[in-house]
Amino acid sequence: MDTYDFIVIGAGSAGAAVAYRLSENPEHSVLLLEAGPPSHRWADIPIGFAKLLKNPAANWLYESEPEDNADGRRLAVPRGKILGGSSAINGMAFVRGQAQDYDTWAQLGNRGWGYHDVLPFFKRMESYTQTEGTDDFRGRSGPVRVTNPRPSDPLLSTVIRAAEQIGIPHNPDYNGSVQDGIAMSQATIYGRRRMSTAACYLTPAAKRTNLTIVTHALAECLLLDGRRCTGVRYTVHGEAHTASARREVVVSGGSINSPQLLELSGIGQAERLRALGIEVRHDLPGVGENLRDHFAPRTRWLVGAKGYTLNDRTKGLGLVYQSLRYLLGAPSMMAAVAAPLRAFVRTREGLDAPDALLGWVPMLSEMRPRGPVISKQSGMTCYAHAMRPESTGHIHIASANPSDPPKIQFNFLATQTDENITVAAVNIARTIMRAPAMRPLELTEIGPGEALNTHDEIIDWVKRTAETTYHPVGTCKMGNDPMAVVDNELKVHGLEGLRVADASIMPTQVSGNTNAPSMMIGERAAGWILGNR
Ligand SMILES: Cc1cc2nc3c(=O)[nH]c(=O)nc-3n(C[C@H](O)[C@H](O)[C@H](O)COP(=O)(O)OP(=O)(O)OC[C@H]3O[C@@H](n4cnc5c(N)ncnc54)[C@H](O)[C@@H]3O)c2cc1C
Repeated sequence: MDTYDFIVIGAGSAGAAVAYRLSENPEHSVLLLEAGPPSHRWADIPIGFAKLLKNPAANWLYESEPEDNADGRRLAVPRGKILGGSSAINGMAFVRGQAQDYDTWAQLGNRGWGYHDVLPFFKRMESYTQTEGTDDFRGRSGPVRVTNPRPSDPLLSTVIRAAEQIGIPHNPDYNGSVQDGIAMSQATIYGRRRMSTAACYLTPAAKRTNLTIVTHALAECLLLDGRRCTGVRYTVHGEAHTASARREVVVSGGSINSPQLLELSGIGQAERLRALGIEVRHDLPGVGENLRDHFAPRTRWLVGAKGYTLNDRTKGLGLVYQSLRYLLGAPSMMAAVAAPLRAFVRTREGLDAPDALLGWVPMLSEMRPRGPVISKQSGMTCYAHAMRPESTGHIHIASANPSDPPKIQFNFLATQTDENITVAAVNIARTIMRAPAMRPLELTEIGPGEALNTHDEIIDWVKRTAETTYHPVGTCKMGNDPMAVVDNELKVHGLEGLRVADASIMPTQVSGNTNAPSMMIGERAAGWILGNR
């Protein structure tokens, strides 16, 4: 059996950061296991997002159980299965969330997770290339390059003007002191390349002789000696291996796979595990519970004015033109973030921070079995959702076989508040799109459609059409209550030598996308492990 100081399972947003920081000290030997391949030809190119959304070569391609409040549909749950994890297949928007998100975690009893505690880790992680952000909030020399496209696209500049007309201000840095407002999406894109954690953390760290990265390595079971986690059993192309950890094992498989691995290892709800014939090693009822995600309807608009949308601009030789621009390093849709414009808005008076997110895509697309394709109609999309939904679901294994997909149940829209914010967010998107600045674009609303206006009509449309925004969190939640899985230092309650570090530890959803917070969690975990508080 090979022995390392640390074993990190999962080379995604968080796991790559953990492995990078732990292996900075040449005296630490670190093994990083990743179930997916080292790379994919579409993973470096931003437009590859569309090519990897339904691609089994780099994606676990999970789906939910039928959802009552999604018209009985099974919802797609893509997850990166590649070095870089979901950061290698995601939409590349860089959003930290609100200071209040982290202060809430601290108020729930998680010492060391208030905004002033996590801000140094957000700063340490990034190299933000723009001048807008102040150094009080932004980092300039971390591994992850973050850029800020300018609103040069006439369609998106028009939406910014329309939002301003209805009182939503332009915000030059929504990751700075204030989140409110509309802005071009900050992006994990640099030059023409996606800045996944594989590119930012692992490519430089791979040169270190004390870091061993094994791809195609599926962790199947944690090894326990009494209360202590001593290592892991894994397979590479079906061949069994074991590795032992002198100091710690860090599980960073993400919100779906981390609870799956704990359950496969006998850590979880005792009754559930026994029913599947798994020996119970540690009864921990919170494993797999508290699943939270964003459930987002997409409002859709036809654009009558010619030449504005990407549908128009990629017609005929347009796609060749965009490809040439990409190859020459000029701004191109090939190097664009998936939703390049976003607004953080308040859906009612009296809130002290935004509670809904709107994200614009300057084109219409249709989902096909192999992924999204550009629609023949010319138009644009705006998704709109509650940022901190109250509804929770769960994820649990369906069998003792590590290759079987777990069962995922979201329970979206289980509360009236979630419904109300979703409907209000849709209506704010419509109000912006109907503002005077938009008139020259000759818009026609096709989703939900002008005939649908009451709360019931809109929520019915939401249930029929909404999808997740691929932000599952919370299934190994951090806290002190009986349903918490890890403590504030991310150590699994009741066990030694085992931490979980990824999006699954979030006790509540963050106000925005989840890649930046997941990388911060990886940085934070390494900080706890190394005693850097
Ligand atoms: C299609 C898509 C679009 C998204 N768009 C955005 C966006 O624009 N902006 C944003 O901020 N967020 C976005 N997200 C969400 C964000 O990328 C994730 O929240 C974040 O990457 C999660 O990080 P993580 O470390 O928790 O898990 P992941 O990054 O998913 O990493 C988990 C890793 O563990 C590996 N693994 C799992 N189980 C095992 C096992 N048993 N053995 C070995 N390895 C294992 C996986 O293969 C994976 O590499 C998107 C996600 C997706 C899928």
